[in-house]
Amino acid sequence: MIDEMAIVKKYAAHLPVEVNALIRELGLTYFEAPMPSENSGRIHKDGSDFTITVNASEGPQRRRFTAAHELGHYLLHRDLLPDGAHLDRLFNAQGYEEANDGIRPHHEVQANQFAANLLMPATFLRTHYDPAADNYKELARNCAVSSRAMQVRLKALGLRG
Ligand SMILES: [Zn+2]
Repeated sequence: MIDEMAIVKKYAAHLPVEVNALIRELGLTYFEAPMPSENSGRIHKDGSDFTITVNASEGPQRRRFTAAHELGHYLLHRDLLPDGAHLDRLFNAQGYEEANDGIRPHHEVQANQFAANLLMPATFLRTHYDPAADNYKELARNCAVSSRAMQVRLKALGLRG
């Protein structure tokens, strides 16, 4: 039995977090493939085997966030996933594909929070965000996320208006 949280911590200590390598070290299959534009990614369960697929048509920052979101489903919700695919449309207003699985909107919120915590660690931001310089773009580069995602994260942490 691997210590999953120890592996997550190990990867979280190095920015930008290598999400794809983390997913693979946890024993999942990860790949990127073209998907319809309304889809960001999915996690597919086949018995004890899990595969995360991310839409290759999206930009690198978005692919990273999607991968981290799907990993959140694996770590937090894998027992709720039936055999088959859970499909995500992360950035549409619903953020949620009405599906015949056990994943509900609040689980999507949890997966997004997991992704934000993983890619943009609170401790790092509290240490390095400078309100006078408003250096969110620099921090976004450090974390390899979009400037927009960093703005949202800093606001959620109460560091930026
Ligand atoms: Zn999801």
